[in-house]
Amino acid sequence: MMQQHKAHVSFFPMPQSDELLDSVVYRYHQLAGHASPRQTFNELFGKFCQVVPKLMTNHTSHLLAKVPPHLFKERQDILAKHLLLPALHRIFGENHIKQAILNTESGARFGTDRIYYCCHTLLLQHSLQCCPLCIQEEQNEMGFAYWHRSHQLHGVATCHKHGCDLIQNCPYCGRQARHPRSMELPESHCLGCGKRWLPTYSFSESVNRLANLAYVTCNSGKMEGTDLVLFAKVVSAITGGNTAAACNDMEASYGSAYFKSIYQKEKDVRGDWLKDAFHREKFNRGEFGPWTLRFRRYSDLLMAVDNLFGSWADFDRYAVNYRKTAA
Ligand SMILES: [Zn+2]
Ligand SMILES: [Zn+2]
Repeated sequence: MMQQHKAHVSFFPMPQSDELLDSVVYRYHQLAGHASPRQTFNELFGKFCQVVPKLMTNHTSHLLAKVPPHLFKERQDILAKHLLLPALHRIFGENHIKQAILNTESGARFGTDRIYYCCHTLLLQHSLQCCPLCIQEEQNEMGFAYWHRSHQLHGVATCHKHGCDLIQNCPYCGRQARHPRSMELPESHCLGCGKRWLPTYSFSESVNRLANLAYVTCNSGKMEGTDLVLFAKVVSAITGGNTAAACNDMEASYGSAYFKSIYQKEKDVRGDWLKDAFHREKFNRGEFGPWTLRFRRYSDLLMAVDNLFGSWADFDRYAVNYRKTAA
């Protein structure tokens, strides 16, 4: 018993609501006063990699053995509350989500897991994002701010709670909100130029609905895979096959500034991108794998659900009915 107790770290920060696991680890790193990330990672995950991983999705078994047992009842607790797996359940098939869950246990490479890595561009923004008003509130209430899970999904441009723009790069000097090699927590000012970040509002209200959808799915606790073939069929049924018209609606609703901000130069959103996103040949044949995920983005899913169904619950209802009628 004593032996087991000794194996635990002497303290570990209490994970906050919707806090990314990475963020909890950064807080531990700061509180422990470790000089290098190597020490923190070796201690908590039993492994180290040269670049500070953005998503600590594997080696959670090692972590669980290290942190005080009351913090997480079981591994499922970390997965459901502090990783992005609940968001993936909307986009991964049943086998992929099972594999992803299994991979969180250990895995050869520490850090961003292969299954996440393959869909990195699908799921995430380029770097971690934060909300200047959340930071202010958290610092006032608790003395620190943290990285929110639901702020990180691709297609999320505003804070679901405050409606202001999320910050990915400092608007003054362009430095990333979190330097890729650092274990920084979000601050009320830029750690590069020192200027204070103020809230800005660049998008229409409909863009904030997407942020809400992301928040809801991250906090749904659900981790069974969705049938994506069904998703494509339902989208096709509700649009009457006219996905091009739906694309026009979406462009009008979210505005070109939104598309420009989330896709940057990578994707041309003119034309029928919805059909392209959900009706790939491989995907229709059911051979849906991480490599085909590259062509799609989480934002595609968020926009389709918001624009065509209104909410996840309405989408689910529609899908159930569709399945019944089709059977
Ligand atoms: Zn906020
Ligand atoms: Zn700056």
